[in-house]
Amino acid sequence: MKKILAICLAAFCLCCCSHKTAQEPSFAVQVSLGGWNHAHYTPDEVIGRLSEVSDKIPVTKVIIGWTIDKEAYVKIGEYLHSHGMEMYLWLPVFAETEEVCGNVPAVDLRGEVPRSFALAEDEGFRFNCPTDPGNIRNIVGIYDKYFSECGFDGVFMDRIRTQSFVSGASGVLNCGCQECRQAFLREGVDLESVLEEWERKGDKFLSVSRYDQVGGFTFESPVAEEFFSAKGRIVSGSVATLADTFRGKGLKVGMDLYAPFMARMVGQDYGILSEHADFIKPMLYRKTEAPAGMGFEYGLLRSSIPDATGYPDIAMDVDFLDTQLDGMNCVPCGRFPDQLPPRHRRDLPRVRT
Ligand SMILES: [Zn+2]
Repeated sequence: MKKILAICLAAFCLCCCSHKTAQEPSFAVQVSLGGWNHAHYTPDEVIGRLSEVSDKIPVTKVIIGWTIDKEAYVKIGEYLHSHGMEMYLWLPVFAETEEVCGNVPAVDLRGEVPRSFALAEDEGFRFNCPTDPGNIRNIVGIYDKYFSECGFDGVFMDRIRTQSFVSGASGVLNCGCQECRQAFLREGVDLESVLEEWERKGDKFLSVSRYDQVGGFTFESPVAEEFFSAKGRIVSGSVATLADTFRGKGLKVGMDLYAPFMARMVGQDYGILSEHADFIKPMLYRKTEAPAGMGFEYGLLRSSIPDATGYPDIAMDVDFLDTQLDGMNCVPCGRFPDQLPPRHRRDLPRVRT
């Protein structure tokens, strides 16, 4: 584990209403302090590293979390604000909150908790139901209880999705709890029918008839098609409600998203989410061998449903990366990363992480 995970994300909010231009890049830096009760660094260590980074690149936002340590954030926030940088709380939403509150887990269409995925023994995490009112209240409660007096300018919402194909097909075919069954019914989808169709067709339930590099996959089965559309509205609708609650507290909102081509699988509807965010930060990780890694996730999709048809081979090359950036062109909010002009790609400084 690196001492400080400082992911420097090329960014310059090129939304339609932005006053910035392509010649004015700015950067967001993401700092992993440690888990809820496991701070790995002192405020002085963090400030020292941020100072080093911001000397090299124009940093405008620092996303940091999620250790519970008010004094640390107050001190770091004072440094950031005095240097013209905003501080966002890195807040996990539908996973990894069990250490600070009890939650109702997400279940698959058979009512079972999908298996979790872990690269190491202590790294696995389950996802929680995205519609359970208690779960939603808990997220706001965590902010109010531990972080509301720390001086944050905004909240960066992470884990705003369901499980992915790291848990196999049942990971994406959820949540199937009673609360979600009602939510799906309100969207015109009966999860019993979805389960029947899945069991009848097997992998072919998830065969696709069309693939768009930006919009993602269109399913052959109308039942699957309607399920994923409804899932996007339900999961993203809950996230939008939470985002609006945070905005009502005077906070800005950033969102961690899957790459556009895979977002639909995990319930992330860019159209809905970008209307409720100040910026989005899709995880365009080409080579990452972990959840959210583009090639990693797509490889798991294909190995999880080997009999499904219509899935193309995708070279996770730079051209494909550009299609994903193109897929974000129409969002009405800021975005990190954005396409760097060639001059900035060439001149990007190397920063030690
Ligand atoms: Zn549920």
